Amino acid sequence: MDLYEYQAKHLFDSHGVPVTAGEVCSTPDAAHEAARKIGSAVVVKAQVKTGGRGKAGGVKLADTPADAQAKAEQILGLDIKGHIVHKVLVTAASDIAEEYYVSFLLDRANRAFLAMASVEGGMDIEEVAATKPEALARIRVDALEGCTEAKAREIADAAGFPEAVKDQVVAILQQLWTVLVEEDATLVEVNPLILDPEGTVLALDGKVTLDGNAHYRHASHQDFVDRDNTDPIELRAQEFDLNYVKLHGEVGIVGNGAGLVMSTLDVVAYAGEEFGGVKPANFLDIGGGASAEVMANGLDIVLNDPEVKACFVNVFGGITACDAVANGILQALVMLEGKGVELTKPIVARIDGNNAVEGRRILTEANHPLIELVETMDDAARRVAQLAAGK
Ligand code: GDP
Ligand code: MN
Repeated sequence: MDLYEYQAKHLFDSHGVPVTAGEVCSTPDAAHEAARKIGSAVVVKAQVKTGGRGKAGGVKLADTPADAQAKAEQILGLDIKGHIVHKVLVTAASDIAEEYYVSFLLDRANRAFLAMASVEGGMDIEEVAATKPEALARIRVDALEGCTEAKAREIADAAGFPEAVKDQVVAILQQLWTVLVEEDATLVEVNPLILDPEGTVLALDGKVTLDGNAHYRHASHQDFVDRDNTDPIELRAQEFDLNYVKLHGEVGIVGNGAGLVMSTLDVVAYAGEEFGGVKPANFLDIGGGASAEVMANGLDIVLNDPEVKACFVNVFGGITACDAVANGILQALVMLEGKGVELTKPIVARIDGNNAVEGRRILTEANHPLIELVETMDDAARRVAQLAAGK
């Protein structure tokens, strides 16, 4: 999960990384009030999960509260690389003597972490990296040793930080490493890390990516979930603990195993071409167990998607045999009716694998008006695409 700048800075602050105080606002009036409270020149910054806000007109200085209000007015609603600005951060403006760059990231290929640092930070760091790679120091950080003071000094030396700021940079590098480790982040980046005219080094921007696999260890990270910008169906799926991604198509997909579900998306998209471009409506992997309850939750999510016209249940029985899966599908529909879910959308089921013959017999005998059993994956994909197209 990527964080907004204001959230990243909140984590920085809690680990001692120097940042300027600020307030998140969703209206120009609130920006006026925030600037009034700060009582000095401010910078109004678009909060979107993409870089290059400065170049896109999403970062503006304002001298007075009225000016902050006007700048917020301009920035709120902007489209920055497809991200609409709903919030701005109003923060005390800093005078900048120098702009640096520092980051730590998980280096999967080398099974380590990588520190990057440059004294040529700011908005053109990508260009520096591309055209002057020697200006961007890259230092491996061993996961077990971590960023010790000696390692931080090695990074600061390699990047060529001036002696006058080195101690501050070394301390900040160690604090940022603590953010990475204690918050279970896979990326912590500061661009620019600035030197102000008084000689203080501080983080003016922040980018943090948290490792979703570690969310269970951080109850507080729940607050970072961006409810306003998350699809409501995805939010419900998260509550059910389902592995669900909303797509924009007409065929709801329920399958077991990520690989099977991905290939189901492919065959449905392929079959859909024949019916005017019918597409899969989602990715949903209900996992190995495929119990009636999980199946019911999955169908609940998929059938309640207003874009879905027909649903494809594609299960390969492995440890859970197909007879249990077949009973699970039937029980799931009973459970949903019990919950008052109106069942009208056709369901095409393809079940194969362990005890498939018995599973198919159960579904055939049940003769449920909404379920159509199709033997092969390709035929099932074609049939469900046809149903979704209303043909
Ligand atoms: P990004 O473009 O999305 O990375 O947004 P940043 O937060 O990095 O801001 C972009 C640029 O705006 C920075 O590189 C600075 O040059 C400038 N900027 C941001 N905050 C301030 C500030 O407080 N004072 C001044 N003078 N410039 C700022
Ligand atoms: Mn930046």
